[in-house]
Amino acid sequence: MKHDDCIFCKIIAGEIPSAKVYEDDDVYAFLDISQVTTGHTLVIPKTHTSDIFETPEDVAAKVFARVPKIANAIKEVYNPKGVNLLNNNGIFAGQSVYHLHIHIIPRYDDNDGFNAQWKTRDDQFYLEELQDMAKEIHDAI
Ligand code: 5GP
Ligand code: ZN
Repeated sequence: MKHDDCIFCKIIAGEIPSAKVYEDDDVYAFLDISQVTTGHTLVIPKTHTSDIFETPEDVAAKVFARVPKIANAIKEVYNPKGVNLLNNNGIFAGQSVYHLHIHIIPRYDDNDGFNAQWKTRDDQFYLEELQDMAKEIHDAI
């Protein structure tokens, strides 16, 4: 269902112009206006869902199912050295538009505008601790 105050719903409806990359009955893909790297594309469900927490499995399946062919097309056109997929959920995680979207970010070099950086802590956890944590999450599913 379309949300009147959602810019991505307006893009799908054609009320806001976009550079369309792909469209079918369920999914729409278009160039991100910020073009963090050349070819930076957003893949979104046509059904409004605000983030990953709200997204039904069938909608998630349809969105992600389209990603390989779109990523391969970007690869063919721009010949990047790699591609990062990114999905931000919640303001703290950098989400600014509350209509689920997967960023496809082609990667060209160290200074191409995108940087995914995280510190590893693999020396700080025993396997038993990881198993306890995994059980907590598993039991919540
Ligand atoms: P987020 O920060 O929520 O993960 O990503 C939202 C993305 O939407 C941003 O990268 C931003 O550049 C893009 N965006 C926001 N408004 C528009 C728009 O009107 N048109 C297009 N093409 N992209 C938009
Ligand atoms: Zn929407």
